[in-house]
Amino acid sequence: MFNLLKYRDMKYEKEFPIFKTKVPGVEKKFNLADVSERKEYFEQKAGEEIAKLKKYFDEGRTFIVYLLGKKNAGKGTYTKLMMEVFGKDKIGHISVGDVVRDVHECMENENEKKELLEYLKNNYRGYISPEDGVNALLSRDQKTLLPNEFIMALVKREIDKMGKRALFLDGFPRNLDQVSYSIFFKELIDYRQDPDIFAAIDIPEAVIDERMKYRVICPICHTPRNLKLFATEKVGYDEEKKEFYLICDNPDCNGARMSAKEGDNMGIESIRERLEMDEKLIKKVFSLHGVPKIFLRNAIPVSVAKDYADDYEITPEYYYEYDDDTKTVKTLKRPFVVKDDEGIEVYSLLAPPVGLALIKQLVKTLGL
Ligand SMILES: [Zn+2]
Repeated sequence: MFNLLKYRDMKYEKEFPIFKTKVPGVEKKFNLADVSERKEYFEQKAGEEIAKLKKYFDEGRTFIVYLLGKKNAGKGTYTKLMMEVFGKDKIGHISVGDVVRDVHECMENENEKKELLEYLKNNYRGYISPEDGVNALLSRDQKTLLPNEFIMALVKREIDKMGKRALFLDGFPRNLDQVSYSIFFKELIDYRQDPDIFAAIDIPEAVIDERMKYRVICPICHTPRNLKLFATEKVGYDEEKKEFYLICDNPDCNGARMSAKEGDNMGIESIRERLEMDEKLIKKVFSLHGVPKIFLRNAIPVSVAKDYADDYEITPEYYYEYDDDTKTVKTLKRPFVVKDDEGIEVYSLLAPPVGLALIKQLVKTLGL
């Protein structure tokens, strides 16, 4: 028991300290789903830090952040928030998964294909030819293991296209070998003298599980939502199937019914291997000396939540009631409580408070 407690202490207080997003004097209850209220939220809670970072970007300086977190931890979401706060001209997002997928598209166009192979000829050094690398990638041929050098050349190409922006890299390093590459990546890509930072996201598996099981997507604009954790304004009820469904908020979608992706109902078990690798990666990076690190927590123990976070920063659980007489759906909310990986009852934070922690730690890490 003593050891278990000690481990919990370590995890919470040392590795992933609880970040206080409750700011004295800021009393307004923000609706964090609303873009303009979100802007005001960031200004009120981190105005000083945002100004410092804006000045830093205006001076032409950048950085590279390696985002490390389990699949579905919200890496893309946090980067989008940074783009919203600082502008797309200042922040670039590279998802290595997307880069690899783009190669497929690239190959369907003769000019793009030629351009990609030309780039690889000039920028890639490795034991298999660029052509074999591309073929292995396209056929997802499991026998030819894609060398890290090949993936890195593809990422470098994406970075070259970005121009002078602070970069958030998602999906690199992806395996234990790539950790060693990432230490020197900044030098390899000649990304000026700007700092590189590892940002690790801690998220309970139970939260990932619920995110997957209740995820729905608009068939038209592909906006993701969650029946349980992130409802839309309008919700419908299917009398035949006796189930509630979300209706896309995007006016262009004309009330499209959002639906689940095949396989998502399996939840976390379908990505178990990936999660274990991600966990190993985070541990490995923790053990690195000499690289600045930022720690982001998705969850906060229920027992201390009221001291550290405001109510509106916590993910609610949505549930619904159907009125048979008026044929209307009522959306209701209650606290969403899950057990984290150590068995502690926690709340899951919405993305903006995690973004707030990211902004404040960036300022500190960069010494601004
Ligand atoms: Zn839509």
